[in-house]
Amino acid sequence: MRTGSFQLMKSMNRSIILNLIREKGPISRAEIAKITKLTPPTVSNIVKELLRSEFVIETSQGTSKGGRKPTLLDINSNHFFIIGIDVGHVYVKFVTSNLAGDVLEQVRLKLDSHPNKQTMINVLKRGVHKLLEQSQLHVDRCLGIGVGMHGIVDNENGISLFTPAFNLRDIPVASVLEDEFQLMVKVENDVRAMTLGEAWFGNGDKQENFVGVNVGYGIGAGIMYEGQLFHGEANIAGEIGHMTIDLNGPKCDCGNYGCLQAIAAGPAIAERAVKELKFGASSLLTDMCGGDLDKVTGSMVHKAAVQGDEFSTRILHDTGRYLGIGLTNLIHTVNPTRIIIGGGVAQAGEFILSGVQEMIASKGLTQQAKETPVLSARLKENSTVMGAVVLILQEFFVRK
Ligand SMILES: [Zn+2]
Repeated sequence: MRTGSFQLMKSMNRSIILNLIREKGPISRAEIAKITKLTPPTVSNIVKELLRSEFVIETSQGTSKGGRKPTLLDINSNHFFIIGIDVGHVYVKFVTSNLAGDVLEQVRLKLDSHPNKQTMINVLKRGVHKLLEQSQLHVDRCLGIGVGMHGIVDNENGISLFTPAFNLRDIPVASVLEDEFQLMVKVENDVRAMTLGEAWFGNGDKQENFVGVNVGYGIGAGIMYEGQLFHGEANIAGEIGHMTIDLNGPKCDCGNYGCLQAIAAGPAIAERAVKELKFGASSLLTDMCGGDLDKVTGSMVHKAAVQGDEFSTRILHDTGRYLGIGLTNLIHTVNPTRIIIGGGVAQAGEFILSGVQEMIASKGLTQQAKETPVLSARLKENSTVMGAVVLILQEFFVRK
């Protein structure tokens, strides 16, 4: 592992100074000493090491009332980089990011429709090799690889325990990538990664207790509790997709009836629209699918709504209402300061959110519960991959 040169970050004072520079930079040595209450010589020595490690750079001169102007220190954001991977149902996205969370380069590979363990591992390796080639960055400057993966993930050991979409178990993601690239590798569930991405670079802002909800092929939640992701006893905390919303609802993949995701996830939106169209509802969708109702998708319903189709607008609003029932249950369980919705269905924005907010406002127990803000993910489709980047970033820095 290429961790030797980063060993210096382990010291408490170094870590405090490094994080202060990230939070307040550009900042002078004198100001660091003042804020940290460390002696100027101590600050000066640690800064010297940080400059040598190239985590920190000296930037333009600061302002001073008379006398010599102090040189300011800032994070050397572009010297090191991090690789983030988002393993979706159809595509795997690979990005390089600098330390400020800017995406530098991106690669997307398509998965086989029924990947096995080995083909899955091969795609991960191939994508990272391709990304490194394409970005022309030297692997020595890579701090590590973060992976966001759907399903149940053992984040401590970096193992994908179960992926419902591919029915694969126990993929040793971290150890395979560590062996191939000699880098630190961290793996997390995709929705928790999305929540982490929003916490650092999106709509999580300074919130310590909030929930990220992914609404795509399935529905899941990432719970941020006191600034940390909450995993539960066996990594299944936040699996809200299978909470029962309607006992008489449609059958879910899990075998039960009326689960939240059987009603409000992407495929369910299309199914509900098709069912009503078959009963003779009139909609732009009939033309858009060329008369073949099997071709109707959730995103097609959104496109029709954007074009002013009343039927599709109502379908999305109803979807929001069902989602709102699930989210009200979540509000009453963990009482977050806000809820951030990401994933494919979240692209429908206001069409969905209006229904969500309507339901929360009508069912919330207290005025505060009724007014729980619901926002779309600011990083949109990059939330998960940026959260994967944060898995590595947080080994060196603390959240601002
Ligand atoms: Zn279910």
